[in-house]
Amino acid sequence: MKRHRKVKILATLGPGSSDEEMIGKLHDAGADLFRINMSHTSHDLMRTLIGRIRAVEKKFGRPIGILADLQGPKLRVGAFANGSETLKVGQTFTFDNKDEPGTNARVYLPHPEILEAVQAGDRLLIDDGRLQLKAEKSDGKSIVATVVSGTKISDRKGVSLPDTELGVGVLTDKDRKDLDAVLATDDVDWVALSFIQRPDDLAEVRKIARGRVGLMSKIEKPQALDRIDEIIELSDALMVARGDLGVEMPIESVPGLQKQLTRACRRAGKPVVVATQMLESMISAPVPTRAEVSDVATAVFEGADAVMLSAESAVGDYPVEAVSTMASIARRVERDPNYSGIIHAQRPQPESTGADAISLAARQIAETLNLSVIVCYTSSGSTGLRAARERPQVPIIALSPVIKTARRLSVVWGLHCVVTEDATDHEDMVDRACRIAFREEFGKAGDRIIISAGVPLGTPGSTNMLRIAYIGSDGMSGH
Ligand code: PGA
Ligand code: MN
Repeated sequence: MKRHRKVKILATLGPGSSDEEMIGKLHDAGADLFRINMSHTSHDLMRTLIGRIRAVEKKFGRPIGILADLQGPKLRVGAFANGSETLKVGQTFTFDNKDEPGTNARVYLPHPEILEAVQAGDRLLIDDGRLQLKAEKSDGKSIVATVVSGTKISDRKGVSLPDTELGVGVLTDKDRKDLDAVLATDDVDWVALSFIQRPDDLAEVRKIARGRVGLMSKIEKPQALDRIDEIIELSDALMVARGDLGVEMPIESVPGLQKQLTRACRRAGKPVVVATQMLESMISAPVPTRAEVSDVATAVFEGADAVMLSAESAVGDYPVEAVSTMASIARRVERDPNYSGIIHAQRPQPESTGADAISLAARQIAETLNLSVIVCYTSSGSTGLRAARERPQVPIIALSPVIKTARRLSVVWGLHCVVTEDATDHEDMVDRACRIAFREEFGKAGDRIIISAGVPLGTPGSTNMLRIAYIGSDGMSGH
């Protein structure tokens, strides 16, 4: 199954999209990988969903990535005696450590570390910023705050603390248990880390994960932006998590940050996902708004690796339509006369490595000779990432003997991943690449392709060779 686009689609699964038939429809419509949101998914359901995704993968014969998204330190207030309260601007309101129903004057905040970390002057944003308070004093057990704007507070609403650096590590007790369950399946390709703040947060998770999953850092705290280069360096991928980012930062700064983050990731050769509210109105309507179409198009023009659906595919009424809408926007934008010029303008310099020199040369040769596809052999996936970093106009087939590599690369711009054994010798390398390019409909008999590989074959990190080859007249060999 060939996708006629470079950008990938990441769809969140949820109550509206959890049976195997629906997962199959979403994949068929264009979802390249799926997100399981651990905030709302039990371990049993997670295992069931993984099983269903793998069944769909088998049926369609294409590697599918699975991303488990850890909830992270998402803070919530306790419950109220009356379910909700209406506050007045200017009144004081206290967050404390007493596990008792809330009133018009106070509520339980079941996070002792937060009661300690908040300082006078820090903002507390409740319910995605609909209610804003400012801390006046804090004694470690309670925070006395003044209402600045908004009035409504109700049971278990989320609390954002844009001014507070949380002393706690990024993994909560729930996250640790979730991560253990994820790793125990040995069948998840990516783990997303919510609300990461410091490079140390990643180091901690990396120790536990030991390379078994890729780490995707969700950028949704201003503190993460202060040390973004180190965070990118230590991450395997990034998510521009615009939902919480737009609460923690002024909402008008999100588009600029999205551009900065997508560019920084492309320079680093790390995949970047643009997420949240991309087709929000499609939760309840079969067609998107013009502004949403434009938003998806912007991410595609920026050269993001993937665009994400959240509630649209998880709980919406039109999950399949949301995926196919994204796919058609992507196909159309990538054919726009301005697209390649915009992508080209942001092209980063190659680093001084064999893989980068080869990837640059492969792109130039493919574009100069108008070849139909670049085929790259990649066992760990790193050559595939460097090939995608070039953002060539022609498609890229990434060949790997490792199914986990193929699944992990499903999030990467432009890569069509195929699992195949390592080539046995030079002739087999050429034949295999030509045969697969033909079979996967990236070239016809007589077309020329370009192949990158590492000799000795099958040695990771050895990419050192380029070869132009013809697909044989039978499509079964090359020369
Ligand atoms: P969430 O993350 O959907 O898990 O909150 C994405 C975001 O905040 O944008
Ligand atoms: Mn979030």
